[in-house]
Amino acid sequence: MKQQSFQPPERLLMGPGPSDVSRRVREAAARPTIGHLDPAFIAFMDELKGLLQWVFRTENALTLPVSGPGTAGMEACFANLLEPGDKIVVCRNGAFGQRMLEMSERIGAEVVTVDQEWGRAVDVAQVEAALKANPDARVLAFVQAETSTGARSDGQALAALAREHDCLSIMDCVTALGGIPVEVDAWGVDAAYAGTQKCLSCPPGLSPVTLSERAAERIRDRQVPVQSWFMDFSLVMNYWGSGGQRAYHHTAPVNALYSLHESLLVLKEEGLSASWERHRRIHEKLVAGLEALGLSLLVPADERLPQLNAVRIPEGVDDGAVRGKLLEDHGIEIGAGLGPLAGKVWRIGLMGETCREDKIERLLTALGAMKQ
Ligand code: PLP
Repeated sequence: MKQQSFQPPERLLMGPGPSDVSRRVREAAARPTIGHLDPAFIAFMDELKGLLQWVFRTENALTLPVSGPGTAGMEACFANLLEPGDKIVVCRNGAFGQRMLEMSERIGAEVVTVDQEWGRAVDVAQVEAALKANPDARVLAFVQAETSTGARSDGQALAALAREHDCLSIMDCVTALGGIPVEVDAWGVDAAYAGTQKCLSCPPGLSPVTLSERAAERIRDRQVPVQSWFMDFSLVMNYWGSGGQRAYHHTAPVNALYSLHESLLVLKEEGLSASWERHRRIHEKLVAGLEALGLSLLVPADERLPQLNAVRIPEGVDDGAVRGKLLEDHGIEIGAGLGPLAGKVWRIGLMGETCREDKIERLLTALGAMKQ
């Protein structure tokens, strides 16, 4: 029998990512593939880089989409900015802080961990104490929007602390970018990485990254080359650097980049502040609706991310059965809890295209019907 093409089912993606992708962004990827060194593609790359600088609010020359998911952008930042033996302060308040720690250890860095309960923001005072106690620390890393819990940390305060203590800052804004303010230049962040599949509402698989001049200098001053050839920014930049010659490094994922470009155009047409405001407004409606159903959120109100809502699973309710029924009967995906929160929370994402009033109504109606 002839094998059939895969036809994915219709889903409303209300989990921790990927989020819904509009037809416009999907269709962008269906445009003809051209060579990644074609002059037309080179001009397109310059435009895409400009859009990435716009969304990160930066003029950093070293701004590019890493060919790989958010974890690739993350690993690239750690691999380039850390050398074996360097000391790093890692803030761990969820699964992605834990991933930062594991990457740093594999590089051979000496890791100082600032732990915070899952579901809370990073404690700025504790970080300050750790930096004071470790004056030889070279990097401070934190997750601005912890997708595993829905906690929002103060990127501005943490980046400022890093500068005060002569550290480079690495900020994970995979879930933050497009949904809440990310101000790379105004906050003085040295390295920020994101993902395409969250509030940019683009298919997964690319990781926008930006590095400050201070970070670029740290890379130039390295004693040992970056262990990963693929992720070495000093090589990748021969392809992504502006002006001059574009040298082959690896074959760029041409069609995926069309989609990223389109998703950034969509965001630009809406405006960043309008997008932040939409996420805030729809989040408040969702919370009111959940509370009306007798449900409560894990994270204290002043530390909540609008785009990721961790909802406590009521006593006696079967976690998997509810998620299964939502998916099978209503076509709605929500996320399970991770690590210590497994079986304790559901994660409801309101990211990018998913963050619309009619979509939360659909979810609330489905949850309401299941309660009866
Ligand atoms: N960091 C955060 C905060 C994330 O939410 C995620 C993915 O959910 C990642 C990093 C890793 O991104 P990816 O799954 O695209 O590799």
